[in-house]
Amino acid sequence: AAMADTKVVKAVRIHETGGPEVLKWEDVEVGEPKEGEVRVKNKAIGVNFIDVYFRTGLYKTDLPFIPGMEAVGVVTAVGPGLTGRKVGDVVAYCGNPLGSYSEEQILPARVVLPVPPSIDFKVVASVMLKGMTAHVLLRRCFKVEPGHTILVHAAAGGVGSLLCQWANALGATVIGTVSNEEKAAQAEKNGCHHVVIYTKEDFVDVVNNVTSRKGVNVVYDSVGKDTFQGSLQCLALRGYMVSFGQSSGRPDPIPITDLVPKSLFLCRPSLMHYIESRDELLESAGEVLSLVSSGVLKVRVNHVYPLSEAARAHADLEARKTSGSIVLIPDS
Ligand code: NDP
Repeated sequence: AAMADTKVVKAVRIHETGGPEVLKWEDVEVGEPKEGEVRVKNKAIGVNFIDVYFRTGLYKTDLPFIPGMEAVGVVTAVGPGLTGRKVGDVVAYCGNPLGSYSEEQILPARVVLPVPPSIDFKVVASVMLKGMTAHVLLRRCFKVEPGHTILVHAAAGGVGSLLCQWANALGATVIGTVSNEEKAAQAEKNGCHHVVIYTKEDFVDVVNNVTSRKGVNVVYDSVGKDTFQGSLQCLALRGYMVSFGQSSGRPDPIPITDLVPKSLFLCRPSLMHYIESRDELLESAGEVLSLVSSGVLKVRVNHVYPLSEAARAHADLEARKTSGSIVLIPDS
């Protein structure tokens, strides 16, 4: 039975790692926020590929756990002594801790962000993690400048869509890869100047043709195993290989000497390390939301599922059936 100071809500919980079927729709208890915490009733929850990594066990956390790293919701309680947040505030959250696949959750106030009411809450719920990732990739790991040519894999995906739109706005020539015609049309809408259907064409050949064999300044590779080697081949002298995901599996290890022939740079960023401080978080989130407001970033929420059907969302994401952003909506 629930304690006096806890309430029972519905959430998606994982007791053992595995396929989408391990996402269980359950009653969970949510307590009162302690010092430095708030309780948030979620209105929309963003789905990210990282949620899949935690579900399969590729990324580790203690069991059982509620997955999910971003959401938008309404504050329903604030911890003792907390200022700057009040019941009724609409807020967004992105990053650690896990737990957004829930009707209601406790969060440290330091990860909670104010949300402009002018932006649709489904858009906000699915642009924080993906948008801040794009910010890290384009502005912080490597700085894309006008005149650069860049290669973005999964250019119709959640992060990929934002990367292409943003890079185009920065003045880069954008080459995007996708798996089918429908996604190719979306990648073009995302501002790709050249689109490669990498399930049919060799993307290395296309990059060679487009760049007159010079290669690209940077590759943003989230696909991992299937693309990593080809991505290295696409780089120009002193090019940057930014490996930031493994949707197809972890890339095989390479010897450092593989970087020598073109004096390449290799980095493997994780968003969380760029938004650990409150200042960096606010700067990154502010940049993303202002680009959404001004229309530079168009967030396509192409898939909306009830929270209780998170397993279907995961299955579709892993089967490469989705494009743009995916959002879960709690019933209550
Ligand atoms: P996406 O919407 O991009 O979905 C993944 C896409 O990857 C698919 O739609 C598919 O596009 C492509 N893909 C290629 N091969 C496979 C495969 N074997 N299985 C599944 N998908 C495949 O997801 P997100 O926008 O949520 O995330 C994109 C990537 O960015 C992920 O790898 C994620 O881990 C990474 N990421 C990393 C962060 C970091 O901090 N380092 C932060 C956020 C995201 P197509 O059909 O066109 O091939």
